[in-house]
Amino acid sequence: MRESRTCPKCHSTDVLERVRVIDRSEGGARDLSLSLPGTTVAGLFRLPKQLPLTAWVCANCGYAELYTAEPAQIRSLRERVAAEGRATAWEASGMDSEARSRAGRLAMLVLAVLLALGVGLMIVLLLFATAAK
Ligand SMILES: [Zn+2]
Repeated sequence: MRESRTCPKCHSTDVLERVRVIDRSEGGARDLSLSLPGTTVAGLFRLPKQLPLTAWVCANCGYAELYTAEPAQIRSLRERVAAEGRATAWEASGMDSEARSRAGRLAMLVLAVLLALGVGLMIVLLLFATAAK
């Protein structure tokens, strides 16, 4: 549909090009993206590479196709992953984004509790120090 500008379903030529597709999450709206295994940091963990998707949409029947603007990046990421000798895991991992988000919230809660305990301990120490005088 992107090249022919003709809908493959209804054959209409009324096609909208490069329509932004958004995804909503706790952080607000963002571009819907492919999430691919990116570069490995210090040989320890791999940061995901996000490639935004853009839609071509038929204005007659609503059929939509999604494209990433940089397919060359997909090929280079695939070659890098293969060179690292790791399995090419393009499919979603076992830990979905909701589980990751829950784990992130739990980590923030633990940090907040530790910070509160630290501040409380400092207040107690200051009270003892001023009372000792
Ligand atoms: Zn159509």
